[in-house]
Amino acid sequence: MSAKLDMERRAPAHRDSPLEQAAIDETLDLVREDLRAFAGYRSARSERVDGSIWLNANESAWASAADADDTLRRYPAPQPDALRARLATLYGVADEQVLIGRGSDEAIDLLVRAFCRAERDAVTISPPVFGMYAVCARLQAARIVELPAQETDDGWRADLDAVRDAALAHGAKLVFVCSPGNPTGELVPLADIESLATGLRGRAIVVVDEAYIEFANAPSATTALSRHANLVVLRTLSKLHALAGARIGCALAHPAIIDVLRRCQAPYPVPAPSAALALAALRSEALLQVAERVANVVRERERVADGLRAFGGVRRVYPSAGNYLLARFDDAEDAYGALLAAGIVVRDMRATAGLEDALRITIGTSQENDAMLAALNASASVAGSQA
Ligand SMILES: *Cc1c(COP(=O)(O)O)cnc(C)c1O
Repeated sequence: MSAKLDMERRAPAHRDSPLEQAAIDETLDLVREDLRAFAGYRSARSERVDGSIWLNANESAWASAADADDTLRRYPAPQPDALRARLATLYGVADEQVLIGRGSDEAIDLLVRAFCRAERDAVTISPPVFGMYAVCARLQAARIVELPAQETDDGWRADLDAVRDAALAHGAKLVFVCSPGNPTGELVPLADIESLATGLRGRAIVVVDEAYIEFANAPSATTALSRHANLVVLRTLSKLHALAGARIGCALAHPAIIDVLRRCQAPYPVPAPSAALALAALRSEALLQVAERVANVVRERERVADGLRAFGGVRRVYPSAGNYLLARFDDAEDAYGALLAAGIVVRDMRATAGLEDALRITIGTSQENDAMLAALNASASVAGSQA
């Protein structure tokens, strides 16, 4: 077991130092006023009663032909207890601090809907960054305030002082911080995230998207939840845990915020087969394998970065704390085309402002990475011989 996964098994962080009620109340005041007393949908499953003959939810009395074990005939628990407890242990928080959703994408959507009034409230983002924050804001007609990340000699840096000032000036309710940054690879120091949360106390929620944090050698922002009522951390089983197709992700926050998000969520957001798969994927043997994969990705990330830097057509490879590398090319179109011709699909970033010459390359198996580097080098030598 890696030190990282071990560390996350410690006692729930919020028990160390309970937050002041005032800080929690200030945060709840940020919820859309029209939703504060909103109870959401009351499903048959939300009444916790005991019985042996269930005639309350209009489910079929017979199993589907596709469901030989009769495990899917009933609506699932809205937040399956066993999975919630397992995720809470994995992430080092209390069960009530976990909201399970259909990927962390759903958590982003719920946050925007719960906190942003259409056409009035704003969110801040630091592009280039994951596109879903802006998509969810658009759908809710929330304003989007962009504070571009800066390029430095050490890689990308989100400008969190500018983010704080803009959030205060524009009445942003949500401040999205992606760490490690997709696609920049930047790891935002936890101390900076905490300063931001302190600076925005009672004014905005800081949402730290940690879809790739396990690939970074750094503590999760979950370790700061005990100190900040206005902090929400997003985690997912989609990347490291290899379950993108199962759609399981979570929001981790103070139980009062989790409760607000839950009331805005669909009645049965966690499909039973996905919950079962997620539980199986989090057994200790599986986690041992996952820890080995982290080591593998980190090793390959360095090797691929070196390989790209050695390739003449690459202008810059950014340091990355995720399972991908962002690189600038002399001719990104050519490189993208050469890879595609070899059957290798990477992420074309050229439509993103400031990344017109960039590709984002996911770290694959060492064979896949070798094939990718070989295809680039082959294209360069063809281009060289034609010149
Ligand atoms: C992949 C990704 C997600 C989406 O995760 P799901 O849990 O699959 O919805 C969230 N944030 C970032 C930055 C990502 O790259």
